[in-house]
Amino acid sequence: MTAPLTIIGSGMAGIGLLKQLRMLDAERPVTLITADAGDDYAKPLLSTGFAKRLPPERLAARSALEVADQLGVVVRTRTQVDAIDPAGRCLHIGEERLAYGELVLATGAAPSVPFAIPEGLAGRVFTINDLDDYRAFHAALTAIGRRARVAIVGAGLVGCEFANDLIAGGHAVSLVAPEHAPLPRLLPEPLGRALGEAFGEAGMVLYLGRGLARLEAAGSDVGVTLDDGERLEADLVLVATGLRPRCELARSAGLVVGEAGIQVDRYLATSAPRIHALGDVACVAGVNAMYVQPLQASAKALARTLNGTPTEVSYGAWPVLVKTPLLPVVALPPLSVPARWRIEGEGSDLVAFAEDQDERLIGFALTGACVKRKVELARAAPPLLG
Ligand code: FAD
Repeated sequence: MTAPLTIIGSGMAGIGLLKQLRMLDAERPVTLITADAGDDYAKPLLSTGFAKRLPPERLAARSALEVADQLGVVVRTRTQVDAIDPAGRCLHIGEERLAYGELVLATGAAPSVPFAIPEGLAGRVFTINDLDDYRAFHAALTAIGRRARVAIVGAGLVGCEFANDLIAGGHAVSLVAPEHAPLPRLLPEPLGRALGEAFGEAGMVLYLGRGLARLEAAGSDVGVTLDDGERLEADLVLVATGLRPRCELARSAGLVVGEAGIQVDRYLATSAPRIHALGDVACVAGVNAMYVQPLQASAKALARTLNGTPTEVSYGAWPVLVKTPLLPVVALPPLSVPARWRIEGEGSDLVAFAEDQDERLIGFALTGACVKRKVELARAAPPLLG
């Protein structure tokens, strides 16, 4: 019997690929292996659940069992792949050796926490990057049984979305970050400041321009000390200090891996034969976008390639829609440092054009009422991967 196509990872990339494959071939034997529970869920919904008071089970579209049944695949949940043997074409799972025919790595990205979390704070300091994390944070929040004081460390996309969502859910939120304005990687500072003001008006307390010095237990509270000595107390801390592609399996198997992920070409092929990668773990021809539209395009192209029609992936000028209803934000960050940001607009309704030396548009950012210009500007901007 030929060994099956094997996918590691049941996030939107792994399950997305599976859905695309099944549209082309209903019969091919496929095994899906995942370290988590294998639920089919949309990760972007994690940062919208607290305002709507959604319990974790409401976020999953279907269970791993339903995925197995409806897509006709073998699903192995709570199964950590320890190593890949590309020469022997097998996976190491504990003592087990599992043969694969073709392998797809969809292992995503893991939270990167640049400081140690004291052991005594287990259950009070969290990251939220999957449904299991959401489940744990949701349980801790529910156990408090009243309006919780939540300190969020990190003002990037994930930190800002949870900050907005938790305050909309009735909690008291503080936002701590070393940058002087929220969303520093997506927005030039004046637009970031507009978002900060909208957060402040909603009652959020912002500690910007200051890093975290330490976290410590203070009775049932968490003491959060900033690097200028100021201290606040919280019931729970949410750390949102960035994500790093999970490349360990690929790296130790000798695949070519860079800072931004497993290096793949536009066919999503890694440097090893019969191994492809997509999603947050993959850097496609130098681009790792780490959001949904690019991974969906990758899933579509890779399904065709694996089905016998080699297909290159391309990405359009797809802006990121940040889920901060207190001030809507849309951004297409430029791939290279712009020569200038040209900013227009009034109050919190702003447009920022990222331009190169020749005044060509290479990216943009929009806030407030100006988000309606996203389609027009996306048409004028260069594709992420043309
Ligand atoms: P993941 O979802 O991380 O899945 C990785 C899978 O690999 C998991 O199943 C894991 O268990 C498995 N795995 C890893 N290592 C192993 C191993 N050794 N053995 C077995 N299994 C393993 N993008 C947008 O476009 N719009 C948004 O609004 C948006 N909002 C977001 C909000 C939040 C809070 C977050 C965290 C992200 C958001 N994103 C958004 C980004 C988007 O969700 C991700 O780009 C996407 O979900 C990544 O999917 P993935 O399948 O590549 O990785």
